[in-house]
Amino acid sequence: MESKRCPRCSVRKPISDFWSNAGDSRGTQPYCRPCQKDYLREYRKRPQHRAYMKRWRQTPKGKAAARRWLAGQWNKIKQDPERLKRSREASRKSYQKRRKNPEAMKRMAATRIISLMVKFGWMTRGACIVCGITDGVEAHHPDYASPLLVEWRCRPHHENVHHGGTEPEPNASVSTS
Ligand SMILES: [Zn+2]
Ligand SMILES: [Zn+2]
Ligand SMILES: [Zn+2]
Repeated sequence: MESKRCPRCSVRKPISDFWSNAGDSRGTQPYCRPCQKDYLREYRKRPQHRAYMKRWRQTPKGKAAARRWLAGQWNKIKQDPERLKRSREASRKSYQKRRKNPEAMKRMAATRIISLMVKFGWMTRGACIVCGITDGVEAHHPDYASPLLVEWRCRPHHENVHHGGTEPEPNASVSTS
């Protein structure tokens, strides 16, 4: 069987242990799969790469790719209850309860999408639209049918919307000094 030495871990491995690479004449990635994974993980952490990706995501091509990726994620999350089940917010029990509640399912999917957007830098957490604090803001969805449309609200001001809390809303006199 054809084999190749991985220059990263110095182990000779069968060619099937390497990912294929269309851009390379030998047809495979230079590193073996685990090494390639490691390498990419480290590479993506570099500030230069992050800055590059940030710029790229602003280009039409980058935006289109981001939209495609997100639409795919969104569909996966919507259609895959297993994935929702694994999501952090849902303990097993509350999941079973929420499963019968379509609104709660939509809320979980919408929340998940926003946390992914933030994680990948396509969205930045804003300040609370009511009081302007930036610590511990949460994404509030006025409409779960538009998962990307969010209002940032601090915990108390978020509670307001859902449970009619006691914090003053924007039109009440909030000191801005
Ligand atoms: Zn290797
Ligand atoms: Zn607030
Ligand atoms: Zn909310």
